[in-house]
Amino acid sequence: MNVAMAETGEKCADQVGVAARFHPESAPDFLPLRQLRVVQLQRLQAIVRRAYERVKLYRERLTQRNITPEDIVTLGDIAKLPFTVKADLRDTYPFGLFASPMEEIVRLHASSGTTGKPIVVAYTEEDVKVWSSVMVRTFACYGLHRGDIIQNSYGYGLFTGGLGAHYGAEALGATVIPTSGGNTERQIMVLKDFGVTAICCTPSYFVHLVEKAMEMGIDMKTLPLRAGIFGAEPWTEAMRKYVQQHTNIKAYDVYGLSEIIGPGVAAECECQCGLHVFEDHFYPEIINPETGEVLPDGAEGELVLTTLSKQAMPMLRYRTRDITSLVSEPCGCGRTIRRISRISRRSDDMIIIRGVNVFPSQIETALMGIEGTVPHYQIVLTRAQGLDKMEIRVEVTPDLFSDKIGALETLQKKLGYSIFNITGIHAQITLVEPRSIPRSEGKAKRVLDERKM
Ligand SMILES: [Zn+2]
Repeated sequence: MNVAMAETGEKCADQVGVAARFHPESAPDFLPLRQLRVVQLQRLQAIVRRAYERVKLYRERLTQRNITPEDIVTLGDIAKLPFTVKADLRDTYPFGLFASPMEEIVRLHASSGTTGKPIVVAYTEEDVKVWSSVMVRTFACYGLHRGDIIQNSYGYGLFTGGLGAHYGAEALGATVIPTSGGNTERQIMVLKDFGVTAICCTPSYFVHLVEKAMEMGIDMKTLPLRAGIFGAEPWTEAMRKYVQQHTNIKAYDVYGLSEIIGPGVAAECECQCGLHVFEDHFYPEIINPETGEVLPDGAEGELVLTTLSKQAMPMLRYRTRDITSLVSEPCGCGRTIRRISRISRRSDDMIIIRGVNVFPSQIETALMGIEGTVPHYQIVLTRAQGLDKMEIRVEVTPDLFSDKIGALETLQKKLGYSIFNITGIHAQITLVEPRSIPRSEGKAKRVLDERKM
């Protein structure tokens, strides 16, 4: 199969004139569609069986609907399967959705959930290989190859961004510099002195790097840097324009989420017009977020993903809450896999700050645990020099407000600590007078996002 796919891929690549940049791992990106659908169906049948046989939650849900793995006869039958949502990961915390015994699991990652507990994800050795492979295909989309020097400024740790990009860049044969996040001046020194040709980080952090470099008297345009791999938060065309004006890079979008695998679910190609979904591993659907109905390609709705090959933790029809549409028209790069349009918003209230997922419910949990506050608060997001700031405005009880300054300061510290404990973000806490936060008739406007670009 692999040899056949590689041959097909090479032929297609020749046809579009990108043979010079073609990487054998990218072969599935160029498969004739009929062949791709056969691969997807075989994998879907196998993964539904695996989930059914090994994960209690899936078995119960399929049984409730009178479905067995044998009912998956065509790709369209995927619509018979129940959705999986983030709360399912929380409710089965930590290991309840694993389909492999711990002896076969080689890695765990975690990301923030809707309450204090994180969600935990697992990988077998095979899963890590697939992850590296889709990251190789991601880098290949951007025209990167052996010989490139990639600075990886995504955070290393429980967050999937750092190690996901790292393994992929190594598998590509490129040179990886694992700078991780933070220490901006050192990041710029490395960029400049090591001849870095590509950088992975959140787009807002890159804007910060550009501005800091200017302050340091370094013109980014004089550096060999030519590609930016920006993800882990939504960003706009305005930001792309800014970045491409101030540097010589092409700024590329990359999409992924820990629940599915991490970064490497979808990536832009040189055409920069939508992100190709590596759909031989991640089957995409677009649904109406209100009704759950599957929408045709081109229609805007919520992205739902099914992992077709994930062994340790299969996800059946996972609701991402990201709003986008599927693009099936042929792409100028010659890839046959479909694209999703850039994600600009979500169907829930999750906010992303410096690449970290934060839910207003987490802030609420933090506030509720502390006496002296009332449940009226507002989250204000701003961005200065490319760095996101989170301010929490909290109303305090009238008696506390008329109290001595000392009590308010103690409360402020307690709140800051409690919010950091739950979200991992240092927020600025502003205590405000009782009844000073506007009340609303319907859903309270909890989040004021004043970040420009
Ligand atoms: Zn393309």
